[in-house]
Amino acid sequence: MSTPLLEIRNLETFYGPIMALRGVSLSVARGRVVAVLGANGAGKTTLLKTVSGIMTAEKGEILLEGETVSGLEPHRVVEAGIVHVPEGREVFPLLTVDENLTLGAYRRRDKAEIARDREMVFTYFPILAERRAQEAGTLSGGQQQMLAIGRGLMLRPKLMLLDEPSLGLSPLLTQEIFAILRRLNKDEGVTMMLVEQNAAVALDLADDGYVLELGRIVMNGSAARLAESEDIQSFYLGHA
Ligand code: ATP
Repeated sequence: MSTPLLEIRNLETFYGPIMALRGVSLSVARGRVVAVLGANGAGKTTLLKTVSGIMTAEKGEILLEGETVSGLEPHRVVEAGIVHVPEGREVFPLLTVDENLTLGAYRRRDKAEIARDREMVFTYFPILAERRAQEAGTLSGGQQQMLAIGRGLMLRPKLMLLDEPSLGLSPLLTQEIFAILRRLNKDEGVTMMLVEQNAAVALDLADDGYVLELGRIVMNGSAARLAESEDIQSFYLGHA
């Protein structure tokens, strides 16, 4: 077996005395989309924050292409190739769309390539091209989500972490954004790990999935197999 792009081993993360991750292990192969499903408070955001170095694990290990990234400062994790698209988008509201994208490429010096990647982002999200001179704070929620994803792409990440990309979006807009994520994965080869409460859209996009409950992985498998599981259907897909 080849080395997975991302490997997480036995991760334990705390908020003071509260143990939010209780020995999480998972892996993401290059070129795949992995969905981590879980209810409110399951630990999904904590997992992404630990991978991106915003939180520090008490125990366990995170490896990118076999190299340890756990314990690195967040900007070093970015330099290693992991970009985090946070929950609630968090674009810079007073900067324009263009300026937000430029900031996304902050650690790159290859101007021609940066310009090409900006055009690539605009191909996937044409509405951002139309609004490139507009302040990001004036965009709709869905457009801000597109900008947050676009800004992440400007780093040419090896791995993109997406925290609830469907949050606060209409079903139609969610479908639109997930269709774009699928194209980014298939056509640009972007590897993704997304955490979602919306199991239906997440499993539809993903190749593989994990279910997180109270800080533990309780189930994993191919997304197709998970979508057929009775437990997933009754707890996460709302089927009777
Ligand atoms: P959500 O969808 O609500 O964001 P989640 O699955 O992302 O849920 P986390 O936000 O990772 O869950 O939270 C995991 C656990 O850690 C929960 O029990 C939560 O109450 C706790 N927790 C999260 N943030 C803090 C904090 N700042 N201080 C203390 N406990 C926290």
